[in-house]
Amino acid sequence: MRVLFITIGCLLLLSANQKKIPQRKIIDVHFHARQFSDYAQNLLPNPKTGKVPTWKNDKEIIDVMLATLKSNNVVKAIASGSLITVRNFQMADSGRIIPALDYPDEQNNLLPDTASFIRYFQEKKFSVFGELGLQYEGKTLADPELEPYLAICERMGIPVALHTGMSFPNTTYTCCPKFRTHLGNPLLIEEVLVKHPKMKIQLMHLGFPWLQETKAIMNVYPQVYADIAGIDWLRPLPEFYGYLKSFLDGGFGKRIMYGSDQMAWEDAIPLSIKNIESAPFLTERQKQDIFYNNAAKFYGLK
Ligand SMILES: [Zn+2]
Repeated sequence: MRVLFITIGCLLLLSANQKKIPQRKIIDVHFHARQFSDYAQNLLPNPKTGKVPTWKNDKEIIDVMLATLKSNNVVKAIASGSLITVRNFQMADSGRIIPALDYPDEQNNLLPDTASFIRYFQEKKFSVFGELGLQYEGKTLADPELEPYLAICERMGIPVALHTGMSFPNTTYTCCPKFRTHLGNPLLIEEVLVKHPKMKIQLMHLGFPWLQETKAIMNVYPQVYADIAGIDWLRPLPEFYGYLKSFLDGGFGKRIMYGSDQMAWEDAIPLSIKNIESAPFLTERQKQDIFYNNAAKFYGLK
């Protein structure tokens, strides 16, 4: 009898465990691959958590970042950086890392000429064009320099990921004297959308705080997707929740994708995931869409 009770007990425990919801699969569409020298001496603490980076070389950065992606079940990460940096990340975990070409990048590389751009894409050295931090250079996506590349992206189905919205306090006074807040307004991409109707484009940071302008663009141009990277952990939660909820209420829930905007702080990944998991207004289905389904559709991932 005692054996029977123990057996029943074990079976009950087993079924309870089986009912436990498995950790969800996540795609991070906005992850930065960087090398140690990109940070110079400037290893600042995470502005939200105060955690100071402890890694001391390229390998340690890659090890810590990949371990963090893995432990949070981030099965794919669109990792942007210079060609060389994203290659190092990709070689360390080719199943997880999807390489993306930053412009401008941390090493101030010029854009490859258009023939090389096409070749690098065909050789899978990059699969996504971005993060395009044009705002930091005082430019927009309509800059003539970008036009031939956008035409290629449209023709070859290369997704374009554009920084929109704003940045850290004092950006204009420190790193980036050409940075202007108004250049982050998603309305400024409209002529590009008219000219390249088949171009796949992702508005990074959901255009924050340009709520109405971002909605106007996403409403008229249904090919436009957006990510919530950065604002999902850097902004005060009530503000982020109010902003995101407005898009959900507006019916844009199938085009909003999770991103961490991990820059130098791996703890941004679990923090941003937690903030979305605990958003009281999101249904389970909406979370699945934001964390996985929308990105899988936009990027054509199986
Ligand atoms: Zn950005």
